[in-house]
Amino acid sequence: MSPRTRSLVALLLGCGLLSSAAAVAAPPDTATPAPSAKTQKADLALLGAKVVTLDAKERTASAIAVRDGKIIAVGTDQEIEPLIGGSTEVLRLEGKTVVPGFIESHCHAVGVARGALDETYAELTSIAEMQDWIRRRARELPAGRWIEVPRNEITRLKERRFPTPAELDAACTTHPVLYNSVSNKWVLNSLGFERLGVMAPAGKLPDGELLRAADGKPLLVRGGTKTIRALIPAAPQHPRDEVLSSLAEVLERYNSVGITSIFERATDPQNLELFRELQEKGRLTTRVTGTFRFSAKSAEAVEKYVAGLNLKPGEGDEWVKAGPLKITVDGGIHWGTTRLTEPYGPKRIAFYRLTDPEYRGEQFYTVAEMQTIFATAQRLGWQMSCHVTGDEGTLRVLEALSRVAADAPEVKQRRFTLIHAYFPSPEILRQCADLGVCVDTQGYLYYKDADVLADIYGTQWAERFIGLGDWVRAGIPVALNSDHMIGLDPDHAMNSFNPLLMLSIAVTRKTLGGGIHGERQKLNRLDALRTVTLWPARLSFDEDRLGSIEPGKLADLAVLDGDYLTCPEEQIARLRVERTIVGGRTVYKR
Ligand SMILES: [Zn+2]
Repeated sequence: MSPRTRSLVALLLGCGLLSSAAAVAAPPDTATPAPSAKTQKADLALLGAKVVTLDAKERTASAIAVRDGKIIAVGTDQEIEPLIGGSTEVLRLEGKTVVPGFIESHCHAVGVARGALDETYAELTSIAEMQDWIRRRARELPAGRWIEVPRNEITRLKERRFPTPAELDAACTTHPVLYNSVSNKWVLNSLGFERLGVMAPAGKLPDGELLRAADGKPLLVRGGTKTIRALIPAAPQHPRDEVLSSLAEVLERYNSVGITSIFERATDPQNLELFRELQEKGRLTTRVTGTFRFSAKSAEAVEKYVAGLNLKPGEGDEWVKAGPLKITVDGGIHWGTTRLTEPYGPKRIAFYRLTDPEYRGEQFYTVAEMQTIFATAQRLGWQMSCHVTGDEGTLRVLEALSRVAADAPEVKQRRFTLIHAYFPSPEILRQCADLGVCVDTQGYLYYKDADVLADIYGTQWAERFIGLGDWVRAGIPVALNSDHMIGLDPDHAMNSFNPLLMLSIAVTRKTLGGGIHGERQKLNRLDALRTVTLWPARLSFDEDRLGSIEPGKLADLAVLDGDYLTCPEEQIARLRVERTIVGGRTVYKR
């Protein structure tokens, strides 16, 4: 079997696309060092560990040898010891577990880094906590300055609703206060509404709609983004050095939870350049794949956008490289804009403060427009990805993609990626398998939001929500990730980027409130581990160099303080990373 065929078998096995029995000729024993390794000594050796290799045979080993940033051998201590020379760094791990470095396949590190320079993020779980936060902020800021409540979705507040202006007034009357739920719905305190000039019942906004109480007082603004934003001074521009340092700190936070690679999921060449600059300065501690988000709709506009990128598809090196293009097809479940196959109905309409019970959510592109975009990206050699959350939105994306595949079947090899795709259905699974589609989805959303979803969407929706088991059984490579946007605390950022919490969610299917929606979605521990290692590697065509611990792959490793494979389920989230190694170099040590 050629190396290429061999890696294909390993890949298909890893993706669950081929059963073990079908792998007649298995890959060579990983305990055997590569031929060149016999004469040259290792730079780094890890001994006495429990190494979860995630190779095609699902082997565990006890030792790893690394040279020039790559794994050169994996096996028993006795097999690795001959590779230890005078200058080899030796880590004796006393039974600790080593797993492949985690791949965070959806984050917004540059946004987090910039945000961290302007604001301190707080995870708020109730309106009372929000009021306390506002009171503290009011003491810090001169009277009259705007206070913006940090982004916290209403699904994650204990009350499961927007705060009222009176509740914001109860916390602060000296500063205008603003709560924004992102979907262009805004609640302000009285001073805020006064500044907006809409306190009088006749007050209007040129670009928004006011919801008023029976007494005429404003309650909430829908739309109005331009007018509201114009009132609030923009955040100051920070010198590039400050942004770079902040970004380096974000990446260190990632390293502290074992993350060794990230997908920056909405970037541009300028932001990708920040990572390049860190790389040149020797400060880049995770590998980065950029995703380029655009909003062009015609073939000409897509061509123009791509020309402006000034990058070839996949251009870069093993540290920073160009990934797919991305469009945003629908909204989200936090904001009442996810595109569904059924009308929202009275319960969801009330929850999201909408009006039309027949409403089914937003869809920003027609199927014909998507077909044009996907076909153009295909012709230009680019992988495509789509933000799409609802099942109707997902079906329309797949319809457009299947039209493209009818003319250009090679699009099926380009690993079209659905980003979010919250609600797999038999039809969605069938089409994804047929079209070679991959999925990037978010564990923490299930953890935080599924209980609310069960309530306002119904249990059947909650059981499909972030349906990991459904994806895996259908043979779809699925990557589990955070969509990290704000905040630096691994467990309490928006959204948590702790892969061990994600693994726990994948294995237990437990929400923060202790609910389990859809037993069938639980993953076994190895498949859960694949969702944060091998499968995300596949999303960026990196499965030959990342995602498992095998000779020839890059030496990206995480050392855990407990045994992920055998510890009680409820302890998985409490496992801590002791050491993170990227390219053979320790980038984090607890
Ligand atoms: Zn995102």
